[in-house]
Amino acid sequence: MKAAPFEYSRAASLAEACALLATHGDSAKLIAGGQSLVPMMAMRLVRPAFLVDINEIAELKFVAIETDFARTGACTRQVMLERDDALAARVPLLRQALAWVGHVQTRNRGTVGGSLAHADPSAELPLAAQVLGAKLVLRSAKGAREVDARDFFSGPMMTSVRPDECLEEIRWPVWNEKRCGSAFTEISIRHGDFAMVSAAAQVALAADGRCTRATFGIGGAAGAPLAFPKIAARLVGTELGDEAIEDAASEAAKETEPGSDLHATKEYRRHLARVLGARALREARERARSAK
Ligand SMILES: Cc1cc2nc3c(=O)[nH]c(=O)nc-3n(C[C@H](O)[C@H](O)[C@H](O)COP(=O)(O)OP(=O)(O)OC[C@H]3O[C@@H](n4cnc5c(N)ncnc54)[C@H](O)[C@@H]3O)c2cc1C
Repeated sequence: MKAAPFEYSRAASLAEACALLATHGDSAKLIAGGQSLVPMMAMRLVRPAFLVDINEIAELKFVAIETDFARTGACTRQVMLERDDALAARVPLLRQALAWVGHVQTRNRGTVGGSLAHADPSAELPLAAQVLGAKLVLRSAKGAREVDARDFFSGPMMTSVRPDECLEEIRWPVWNEKRCGSAFTEISIRHGDFAMVSAAAQVALAADGRCTRATFGIGGAAGAPLAFPKIAARLVGTELGDEAIEDAASEAAKETEPGSDLHATKEYRRHLARVLGARALREARERARSAK
């Protein structure tokens, strides 16, 4: 099938993109890498009357490492994040997550902002954003606002982005502790497919091996990726033993609301949430223990 007819404009700057969104309102959509939007248009699941192309906007493509945050422009290609060694050193969860996102070909074209704005509940970058507590900067012709990841994702393919807003940049918290480790894991039918269920974790340890900070989350088991700050807080002060990790993952799995489809029942997805949640926490702990 072919997309319904639409008008198209390539914006040269963020200000121009915002002005076009302000003019065309609800009938306009931004197009970044097109890896999700184009198939949806071809299937006529979405029919924007006006496309605003943000691919040529240089100010939306960057990676900048600061002391407490790594900032990435929304239109930075996923592959640029994946290959950035400085970013991987400061926010290792991003490279770990990106290894599971589609294929090299889709990562060459797909953008970090497109994945977050598309907000597939099984997508890896939204889960990484939730687990790390990323902040997302949204810009419109009226100005900019910053939204926490926990307030950004509101349901399957639903976010707090308003029709006149463009996601401008994402601020990924950097953990400056020496003994820090993270991990991302998932189960899918084939590698490169969207996850059936995924899990991500990051922990920091004191010199005596006790946990000083922990975060973890589950993707694909609710309408949006979930993080479990209260459960993770109970791990702080423990030695992150296997039993404590299993308990945390079991508690988290109870909070998931998975659905059933032809790939898996909700019971199997909840089982995976527990198993993968524990696996991600254990792998993160092992990396933190071996960090120098
Ligand atoms: C074969 C295949 C396999 C894939 N597998 C996976 C996978 O395993 N995991 C995964 O996470 N993804 C997967 N994807 C999707 C891929 O990661 C997409 O790149 C991503 O979902 C969308 O990014 P994009 O830049 O292509 O955005 P587009 O498709 O251009 O846009 C997607 C949506 O985001 C909006 N948007 C884009 N940029 C902005 C912005 N800056 N501000 C506000 N709104 C914006 C658009 O209006 C649109 O609604 C796959 C895609 C394909 C084709």
